Amino acid sequence: MRVLTINSGSSSVKYQFIDTDTKQSLCRGLVERIGISGTNLSHTRHDGVKTIISDNIVNHETAIEQILKILVHPQFGVISDLKEIDAVGHRLVHAGDKFKQSVLIDEEVREKLYECIEYAPLHNPPNIKGVEASLEKLPGISNVGVFDTTFHVNMPDYAYTYGIPYSYYKNHGIRRYGFHGSSHYYVAHRAAEILGKDIKSLKIITCHLGNGSSITAVKGGVSVDTSMGFTPLEGLLMGTRCGDIDPGVIFTIASRENFDIGQANAFFNKQCGIQGISGLTNDMREIEAEAENGNYQAQLALKVFSYRLKKYIASYMGVMNGADVIVFTGGIGENSDVVRSMSLSEMDNLGIKLDAKINKATRSSETIISADSSPVKVMVIPTNEELVIAMETQRVIMGENQD
Ligand code: ADP
Repeated sequence: MRVLTINSGSSSVKYQFIDTDTKQSLCRGLVERIGISGTNLSHTRHDGVKTIISDNIVNHETAIEQILKILVHPQFGVISDLKEIDAVGHRLVHAGDKFKQSVLIDEEVREKLYECIEYAPLHNPPNIKGVEASLEKLPGISNVGVFDTTFHVNMPDYAYTYGIPYSYYKNHGIRRYGFHGSSHYYVAHRAAEILGKDIKSLKIITCHLGNGSSITAVKGGVSVDTSMGFTPLEGLLMGTRCGDIDPGVIFTIASRENFDIGQANAFFNKQCGIQGISGLTNDMREIEAEAENGNYQAQLALKVFSYRLKKYIASYMGVMNGADVIVFTGGIGENSDVVRSMSLSEMDNLGIKLDAKINKATRSSETIISADSSPVKVMVIPTNEELVIAMETQRVIMGENQD
């Protein structure tokens, strides 16, 4: 089956065209700055042929239109007719308590997707725009929604319940949900495959560290706890999000700055985290460079990021009574040997010992970076959320059961 995957964000659409039989990506690309000036579609074919199209892409509909055009382009495309697309798989961020699995998008599901907006008002609306544009531009082709929250649906109640009146869970669905599910699922399964072990026998801690970061405890293939909560604001320190915080800080800053709810939400999502502490940037590469140059706030941002990650890793070892594997993925996890070594430093009493040389040399490749003598294996595994979305899309369309 050949599946077009769509990841539609507020001003960008990422896509891949994947052959699920070979698990190969035939082409991939990104439309950036939708609705802002200087929109670009950058497209790369499996053979390395690249092109950039600068066109007036004013909204998500025209973005999808341009993506479909490039797929059948005589010089840069990979198919000669749009009928060669068997299905479209959409990354959808928040299912709330409306969907426990990936779904075929029919009229009823489409309506329910709008009901999910209240859970993630920043993320879900652009996701839905991608779905609407695809339904319109590819009539007769099946669309499947794959949610970030799905992998975490089996978290135990004591892990997802907040310390608030229970009625807010019963009546408003306020609980911890977790995100980055496709990524945590992919790297956990890939780790088991690489080690030649059955995932059901393993305790794995997966660290997805990018602009948004989350960490998950995977026991026997099931997510038993994860750091993001009702929204992607909870948990680790992130590029511009504060992560775990005393709610009292929110009241105090909102009151001193005279923020309304929307302004407070924007502040803690967009002006905090690494950016807020460093006063410089949300980009970890620049933070590392500035820290190296002796900038105190950059050094502090790096330390806070790594320290919080270390605390979560240790706590998930408590949750699972140990760990067999720790996996690093995402832009930071795959590339930053500094973050990996800082977050795992002085954990040898917990059975974690890095091979410093291998760690330093590892960038975005599947590698075991722990010392041979380390009881806990530490791995770097580049994530592949699009492959999970494509495989899920196939599974739903074929009516197969989830493993
Ligand atoms: P997103 O969550 O937007 O998908 P990514 O997974 O692409 O983000 O991760 C982006 C982050 O990865 C940025 O902070 C970037 O600085 C960081 N990153 C990328 N390459 C490196 C590197 N070589 N060293 C340290 N950090 C890196």
